[in-house]
Amino acid sequence: MTEELLVVKNLKKYYPITGGVLGGEVGVVKAVDDVSFAVKRGETLGLVGESGCGKSTTGRSLLRLIEPTAGEITFDGVNVTALSTDEMRKMRRDMQIVFQDPFASLNPRHNIEKILEEPLVVHKIGTSSERKKRVQEMLEVVGLSSYHARRYPHQFSGGQRQRIGIARALMLNPKLIVADEPVSALDVSIQSQVLNLMQDLQKEMGLTYLFIAHDLSVVRHISDRVGVMYLGRIVELTTSGQLYSNPLHPYTKALLSAVPTPDPDDVRERVILQGDVPSPANPPSGCTFHTRCPHVTEECRSTRPAFQDVGDGHFVACHLYKQ
Ligand code: SF4
Repeated sequence: MTEELLVVKNLKKYYPITGGVLGGEVGVVKAVDDVSFAVKRGETLGLVGESGCGKSTTGRSLLRLIEPTAGEITFDGVNVTALSTDEMRKMRRDMQIVFQDPFASLNPRHNIEKILEEPLVVHKIGTSSERKKRVQEMLEVVGLSSYHARRYPHQFSGGQRQRIGIARALMLNPKLIVADEPVSALDVSIQSQVLNLMQDLQKEMGLTYLFIAHDLSVVRHISDRVGVMYLGRIVELTTSGQLYSNPLHPYTKALLSAVPTPDPDDVRERVILQGDVPSPANPPSGCTFHTRCPHVTEECRSTRPAFQDVGDGHFVACHLYKQ
């Protein structure tokens, strides 16, 4: 058994832009552009970046909820990019997703028992009474009660609904959970309860997480390592501790400078980025961050920096990372 549960190599997801008189392809949106990373068993890898940076598309491509344009995804030693639709459906027993908006992902006409039972029915697991027992167990595991099984999604608060979303993802005993902004829609006080629950479940069930969020403080709370995405690419990837104490990429530094800190002695300089995120349909040449980077040089405009390991598994894509 390899140490790495998930290995992603050169993942790309391009969307064609059609137009013109004949409606032909006139360009592509590079939502995910050559992304590579690995997630170790039992680890939490955070993926962070502004909205539209490709983090959610990356997460969904791993489960092939979105078909990747190119690249290789190896999960538990199996190349999932080569699986048929039927084989992929079976593989999803081990790879589950938790969405940002639990209400949108829970069928409002079904009670919680039916919602939680559904993955077992789809995969033909257990008898009816065994499935109901499992539903009761999972409700308790996520901090709800067995009497909640008869209720409907609208009868729950946002935090409770996310607990239901997590219970549903765990029904099949998966190995990997892709958590796509799982606490972004929740109040701050509820966020930490759900994050603590996810951490407890990880320990108890030996889960591996890919945790996607736009909020660096949330990602820091839960991740062992963090990848920072900008315009479809990972620009920095390292341990959570290194990322916060020794960020090397100017974009990471700017994101971190915007995170409030409770330490009054921590007087970090606030880096305000100029301009908007460029369109992924027309990304800048060279380093795609060059249009907003305070340290841009001629080389940055013309040459794409390699995504390289600069020591101890700290990866960065910047010509001037030593500065
Ligand atoms: Fe900034 Fe140049 Fe580094 Fe890109 S390569 S982040 S433009 S210094």
